Amino acid sequence: MTTTDDVLSELTRLRAGDPPTHGGRVLSYVYDHGRPELDELVAAAVQAFLPVNGLDPTTFTSVAVLERDLVAFSRSVLGGDSGVVGSVTSGGTESCLLAVKAARDSWIARNPGGRPVLVMPTTAHPAFRKAAAYLGVELVEVPVSPGSGTCGAAAVLAAVAAASDGGAAPAMVVLSAPSYPFGVLDPVAEVAEVTAELGIWLHVDACIGGWLLPWWPGEVPGWDFRVPGVTSVSADLHKYGYAPKGASVVLYRGRENHRAQYFATASWPGYPVVNPTVLGSRSATALAAAWAITRTLGAAGYAELVAETAAATTKIRSALGGIEGLTVVGDPAGALLALRADPACAPARQIDPFLLVDAVRERGFLLQAQPALQQSDGTGLPRTAHLTLTAVSARIDSELIEALVAAANQVRGRSAPPPDPALVAQVAAEGLPEKLAGVMSTLEAMPKDQAPAALVDLLAGVIDPDAG
Ligand SMILES: *Cc1c(COP(=O)(O)O)cnc(C)c1O
Repeated sequence: MTTTDDVLSELTRLRAGDPPTHGGRVLSYVYDHGRPELDELVAAAVQAFLPVNGLDPTTFTSVAVLERDLVAFSRSVLGGDSGVVGSVTSGGTESCLLAVKAARDSWIARNPGGRPVLVMPTTAHPAFRKAAAYLGVELVEVPVSPGSGTCGAAAVLAAVAAASDGGAAPAMVVLSAPSYPFGVLDPVAEVAEVTAELGIWLHVDACIGGWLLPWWPGEVPGWDFRVPGVTSVSADLHKYGYAPKGASVVLYRGRENHRAQYFATASWPGYPVVNPTVLGSRSATALAAAWAITRTLGAAGYAELVAETAAATTKIRSALGGIEGLTVVGDPAGALLALRADPACAPARQIDPFLLVDAVRERGFLLQAQPALQQSDGTGLPRTAHLTLTAVSARIDSELIEALVAAANQVRGRSAPPPDPALVAQVAAEGLPEKLAGVMSTLEAMPKDQAPAALVDLLAGVIDPDAG
């Protein structure tokens, strides 16, 4: 047997190889509030709930109390009244999946034997593609404008009308508040007016914006339950809610809509089964941690964190405006920015986002490279470098700006390596290289039906006990 000390030191050593989760140097995946006392609180909450099974809140009644409190607080933040209810889930993907499941089942009850359709802009999160694939729902994608990063309500409504042609109306429309790739808000209120009239379920995916936009300074166009036609909203506690991973909420207008999310059966010889979410037995640690964080911060605490985030965003956006060859896509509503090569600049002065990501990484900051995408109408969305800013960004904004300026100066006018099909086998054998620009342009150029298999190979290899 290995001693517990040895085991712990092995875990510590492995963690030391990860990028820093605190301090704002990783501009995606992690959300840092910059308050060490909240980390201690979370650790204690997790410890207290570690042995609990969240499967049955009638046995572990503490779980019911925490979830009820979180739903109540979330709906007050998201503009819902007492007609809005919902669940705490394990994350954004599960919240989105459950919203699609509820919309699908409620549509099928009204259209037995029909094929449910989901209409959404190209920029909607892949969780909805996954939900459509898992749940047998047909997807209709609406191209977004490469300039604004979103689409007009008219384009969404035209897609709704086309999908209804000769049949029932689509089961669901999904819009984002804001979208992940470009951080831009979709036209929620304009679409809601029409979908409400047609009786179509409108889901607003506020997984990333749900705990940010309610306190964002200035005018943000309506996107939450205050917009009458909004049926459901997803909002991740483990993003700008600053809870540790494993917590999100999905809320519904109307108790019957929430109930359509559940699975229940009495048709087996065991205990009566009622699962509100995907999992059966489940940890209550993330729920307890999210409850503890939201309870401590309250609306006033979030307002403070958002004010810090907004100040950093303004400062960084303004500095980006002074970097030649680079421009922000659209007009982001919040703290997510996508940087593209400035089409108004001569190619010799433009900055390639893939090269920028590699050059910024050398300076200790991790941005996310987002490949270009050809949409169904032939328009192309540009390659971008994605930044998710958080409250702690305010403490390192000058350093980040310095890194962006220096990186831009280093790569201005240069082109990313061309696609190289030989890289796929090389990465599979040796893992990812230091500089990712070549891998990204190879992936970008790969036919969309071949990319998934290559990505699966890569990730499956990472955890294969017999590989490497
Ligand atoms: C993060 C995100 C999701 C999915 O959430 P996970 O927590 O990663 O499963 C869905 N939609 C948007 C807009 C997101 O940013």
